[in-house]
Amino acid sequence: MDAEPVDILIAGGGPVGTALALALQDSGHSVVLTEARSAETCGAHSGESAAAGAVKTGDARAIALSYSSRLVLERLNAWSQLAATPIETIHVSQRGGFGRTLIRAGDVGVPALGYVVGYDTLQRGLLATPCAGRRIFGAKLTGFDGCTAVVRTQDGELAFAPQLTVFADGARVGDGRAAPAHSKDYHQTAVVASVTTGQAHHGRAWERFTPEGPLALLPFADGYSLVWTAGPERAAILCALDTPAFLAELHAAFGDRLGAFTGASARAAFPLALRYGQDVEVPRSICIGNAAQTLHPVAGQGFNLGLRDAWELARLARDSRGPGSDEFCAHYRRARALDRGAGIRFTDSLVGIFSNANPLLCLGRGAGLLALDLLPIARSFVARRMIFGARALP
Ligand SMILES: Cc1cc2nc3c(=O)[nH]c(=O)nc-3n(C[C@H](O)[C@H](O)[C@H](O)COP(=O)(O)OP(=O)(O)OC[C@H]3O[C@@H](n4cnc5c(N)ncnc54)[C@H](O)[C@@H]3O)c2cc1C
Repeated sequence: MDAEPVDILIAGGGPVGTALALALQDSGHSVVLTEARSAETCGAHSGESAAAGAVKTGDARAIALSYSSRLVLERLNAWSQLAATPIETIHVSQRGGFGRTLIRAGDVGVPALGYVVGYDTLQRGLLATPCAGRRIFGAKLTGFDGCTAVVRTQDGELAFAPQLTVFADGARVGDGRAAPAHSKDYHQTAVVASVTTGQAHHGRAWERFTPEGPLALLPFADGYSLVWTAGPERAAILCALDTPAFLAELHAAFGDRLGAFTGASARAAFPLALRYGQDVEVPRSICIGNAAQTLHPVAGQGFNLGLRDAWELARLARDSRGPGSDEFCAHYRRARALDRGAGIRFTDSLVGIFSNANPLLCLGRGAGLLALDLLPIARSFVARRMIFGARALP
């Protein structure tokens, strides 16, 4: 089988791979994106506007986009397709301890701290944005030896000879692929659902830390998107409860701040782990998004970091005539090391510090939240860190 030459092959058409294909449009390189799922499953040919918000692929998670991701999506002409709910304030507190803080968009001088959009809506919006690159659906990368990439489709195998292969194929759990160099099971599962209360959300997100893990309520359309982290057994029980019993458990865990919860969608569960790095870098290849680092969803960093991966890669590729060279790949990894490392440490330490019933740590956390509430400079730094990643570091 003759391998078709192409400058850049992107394996994985999730939100990060799709964003990369859009960002590479004016790079002067030929680009092919292969996505394992069918076009229908991805919502690529649904003929609906992404703003309609109907879920096609059944991924229940909502994604909190940072303000800086909005700026990137605007540059990709994808922003106007997304019906996103702005986050104007974030209330942070801990259960069973004192201390709380309120972070406001005004602390950082931006119109919103972030925006909430369904994973499916984001994916469909990116796919609905006109793209010059070739996208092949139902096409799974099954082999890459540093020279030839083999892709399996319903009609048989395709072979490509890319200068650069970009792995944007997600966490690859159970895919038989090389394990990441660093891997840590959090022994936590995120239970995800849409919930409603009797009160309007006024653009406020709630992040409540509990000894079992963080519980986040993100303003989403007329209600909230819930990300409730718990031990795997408790999460399985929460998913199996009928709606009234689930709402009562949620009320008990979250407290009275929003009154009673009035409705919940079906729940979905996501086991959580930290995965990053590779022991052996395959020549002429780069990993981005979840394929490079899969993070705990606390503070909503994963996609935002992955989008910065894609944006930086496209920026460097635009100036390069040899995007698969060792120099190019090493340059890219160096360019992303600080932001990636900071994102990994930030989320991992939040989980370690806050998912803990130790009374001393509880006191320390309370003092930290109080200090944050009293010090606008500290609040502004934390907000900038969440919005802009490592670029916010002094
Ligand atoms: C509960 C939860 C809540 C989250 N909330 C947030 C949040 O608020 N903010 C935030 O920024 N992030 C959040 N994240 C993280 C975010 O979902 C991920 O970082 C993001 O989806 C990564 O996108 P990706 O395109 O890299 O990977 P994925 O979304 O996993 O997409 C990978 C794609 O590759 C395809 N694929 C896989 N293998 C192959 C192959 N061999 N060949 C071809 N295609 C292949 C898959 O079909 C898929 O379409 C959350 C995650 C979870 C679990």
